[in-house]
Amino acid sequence: MAKPAVWKNDKRYYDLKSYWRNLFGCNVHKLQIDAGFTCPNRDGHVATGGCIYCDGRGSKLRQQGALPRITTQIKSGKKYYTGKADKFIAYFQTFTNTYAPIDKLKLIYDEALNEENVIGLSIGTRPDCLPAETIELLSDYARKYHVWVELGLQSIHDKTLQLINRGHNVQQFFDTVKALDGTGINICVHIIIGLPGESDKDILQTAHTLASLPISGIKIHSLLALQGTALGEMYQKGAVNIILKDKYVSLVCDVLEILPPQMVIQRLTADGYRDIFLAPDWAANKLDVLNSINRELQRRDTYQGTHYQDK
Ligand code: SF4
Repeated sequence: MAKPAVWKNDKRYYDLKSYWRNLFGCNVHKLQIDAGFTCPNRDGHVATGGCIYCDGRGSKLRQQGALPRITTQIKSGKKYYTGKADKFIAYFQTFTNTYAPIDKLKLIYDEALNEENVIGLSIGTRPDCLPAETIELLSDYARKYHVWVELGLQSIHDKTLQLINRGHNVQQFFDTVKALDGTGINICVHIIIGLPGESDKDILQTAHTLASLPISGIKIHSLLALQGTALGEMYQKGAVNIILKDKYVSLVCDVLEILPPQMVIQRLTADGYRDIFLAPDWAANKLDVLNSINRELQRRDTYQGTHYQDK
């Protein structure tokens, strides 16, 4: 397979920056927003304790005290990107950003979209937290704005979702993807490589399944062990193996080769808080990981999509 000309980038996969430049003809950046949401997998609505890798502290901003208004967060984000971006996507990132009554959600999203040069929304949430009325609201926005929903999934295997205490199953994910399909909302799915109990085959099955669904984007990262999490405790007791860099790089390349060439790769590395970071050490050097992935694809002489539709 030749490199798709539409990517117009110097990478072996279709990165988000290039996708937005191609779509809008300018530089677009996400502005991270903490709107004060919680998570049903932490507050007892679905489960308590959260996913085993979740530190539960929320954004750095939340840790500093009372959250600034959304407009204030957007203005300071835009200031940070002065000269680097022309348009912005309001990225509701912290916890579950659809976990509130519809009227409240509308107020929150409207506040972001009323800011100058904010051309869309990216909303991080869970597959079990998108009722029909929320999808309808987002679909209304999608008629006028660029809208993404980011679904935390991590794995397509129920045994893994149970082990990591996701509090939802794979069928709920399929149902939500089906409900979102055709609404004008772009779907991005988050997956983790290196989850406990998962074989290479399990990971590749996750990639094949996602490749067959109407999904426009993906975020991939390695499992991180953080202090104060159930996984961190397992790691400190020697009860879990953390993936090695070479293995991660190789599996990311395998996954990229399986995914369709038009799927936007939104992330290939993890962001862990340095103050509670336990492992793996190599994940702290994001640039090195990205370079290693590109080098490995070069060595293989493959691209994202090389093995798309291979079974
Ligand atoms: S769904 Fe997200 S916010 Fe909720 S517990 Fe899991 S990782 Fe944490």
